[in-house]
Order: sequence, then structure tokens, then C-alpha cells
Amino acid sequence: MSTKVLIVDDNDGVRRMIRMHLDIAGEYEAHEAANGEECVEAVRTLQPDVVLLDIMMPVMDGIEACRQLREDPATASVYIIMLTAKAKVADKVEGLDSGADDYLAKPFAPEELLARIRRGSKVVDDRRIALFDPLTNLYNRRSFDSFFERELARANRYGNHLSVILVDIDHFKNVNDTYGHPVGDDVLKRLAKILKESIRTSDMVCRWGGEEFVILMPETDIEAATEKAELVRKSVESYTFPKVGQLTASFGVSYPLKDEAALVLFERVDQALYQAKDTGRNRVVALDPDAKD
Ligand code: GH3
Ligand code: MG
Ligand code: MG
Repeated sequence: MSTKVLIVDDNDGVRRMIRMHLDIAGEYEAHEAANGEECVEAVRTLQPDVVLLDIMMPVMDGIEACRQLREDPATASVYIIMLTAKAKVADKVEGLDSGADDYLAKPFAPEELLARIRRGSKVVDDRRIALFDPLTNLYNRRSFDSFFERELARANRYGNHLSVILVDIDHFKNVNDTYGHPVGDDVLKRLAKILKESIRTSDMVCRWGGEEFVILMPETDIEAATEKAELVRKSVESYTFPKVGQLTASFGVSYPLKDEAALVLFERVDQALYQAKDTGRNRVVALDPDAKD
């Protein structure tokens, strides 16, 4: 598969020159953006492997674009090479601190640029293997942990809402026992797709383990998260899984108190899920730690 490269520069002469070198090399699919804002949008929609990022650009500069790409789980894994005429040490440091993987000063030799893109392409493959669950293509537990930590810090600092939904398929063991493991795997893939299609771009869904999934919802209160869980519950219930037919899932919902340890929050989410299972499955239980009873 060819490496997808996004060329970001406000100077179309520079973009054309780089595109020409990529075309000659043959193994690249080149795309272009003219400023940081276009870059962030293009990375979201095109999912390139490597971004060649100019620093000084109108609308949004490369440093800010780099920060935004790293903050969003949907764009964070891309390999970023800063390409710029700014070659002072302080500029390189700022670029790397904002999350760039590599730095190349203009003017550069095309062979060197291509070599760095080849390296970026390998690094990004490894990075994606480390971030995603191979069966469902959802984020794995490890990437969840790093984004959760960041969102939790933000919620504590700014007092933003942050909700967590834990999803567990009901009687999933029966699926494996009755239809075999490959059919069970297919159910997991389809459920992952339902979850992915249910969330907003600012939410994150991860395979928590086995047949359990977590949805992280920044800037969402427990009422909105509970409504979302209810919608997902209905989507699962009404879906027809090939060979298996109808299945259901149970949901636990909660949110962290200020400065609460992640472990304590997840105990509560687990407890909510347990209550959903214990009271008949195919239901959503939300536990509000602030609620007076
Ligand atoms: P409950 O309604 O209480 O959640 O019951 P359950 O059967 O869904 O839960 P239990 O925890 O007893 O069983 C989970 C099953 O999920 C057991 C395990 O074999 C299966 N499982 C875990 N990971 C995978 C996987 O990657 N593929 C398949 N096919 N099955 C898996
Ligand atoms: Mg389970
Ligand atoms: Mg289960």
C-alpha cells in the first residue's frame, strides 16, 4: 500500500515541488493543505500516514496545528515532519515540543526528505499497531489510558464534564459456545462498528477487554451520557447479527469527582454495569456520585 502524505505549506510552489518529488519516487499518494486549519481537517478526513508541516502559515501556524493533531485521538498517531525555513535551535525545540516527530530545514535535499518519509511510514505502522486492537480496529486499552489521563486532567483543571460508559455484551459466552469463536469474533467487530457510528468525533471508544468496551465522552454530563448509552442499547437490540440474530448489551455510566483516582471511578462504572446485569441485563444504569439519597 502506498504511503499517504499530506503536504502542508502556504506556498503553492513549495507544495508543487514536493509533490513532484513524491510522484517521481512513485510509492506515495500526495495530498495538499495550505494552512494549519486545512491541515487538521485534512488529517481527520484523509487519515494520512505522514504530514509535512510548514511552520509559518496564515490562519493557523504549524506549531498550533501540530498541537491540535496530537490532542485528538483520531489524528494523534500521524507522523509529523516539520519542514521549515526557520532553522534556529529555539524554533526546532518549539516544533519538537509541540509534538513533531522530525524536523527538516529548508532548503533540503529531496533524497533526505524521501528517506525521512520512509522512516515515518514505518514508525506510523508500528505506532498504529500499538494503539489499536487488531480484531475490532478500535483503540486498545493502552491508548485509552493515555487519552483518559489527559481528559481527566483537563476536567480537573477546568471543571469540564467527562463521562464514561462501560458496555458489556450479554451472555456472550453462549455465542461462542453455540456458534464457535469465529462467529463470536464477527459479533465483536460488528458491535465495534455500531459503537463507532454512535459517537461524536470528540468521543473515544476503546476495546476494554474481551467483550467489554468503553466510551469516553469529554464535555458531556451524566444525563447526556445516559441518553447516549440508551440510544446505543437500542441500536444493539435492534441489530441482526448474521447467524446469531438478536443480542443485547448492558451499560454502566458514571463520571469522575474532582481529583478522584481513575481506579475509584472505574470501580463505580463497574458497579453500575454489575447492577445493570443483576437487574435483568439489556439496560443502562448510571451512578451519580454527587447524588444525594
Ligand atoms: P454476561 O451477560 O454476564 O456478561 O455474560 P457473558 O457470557 O457475556 O460474560 P462472560 O464474562 O462469562 O464471558 C465472556 C466471554 O467472552 C468469554 C470469552 O470466551 C469471550 N471472549 C472474550 N474475548 C473474546 C474474543 O476476542 N473473541 C471471542 N470470540 N470471544 C471472546
Ligand atoms: Mg464481560
Ligand atoms: Mg458479557
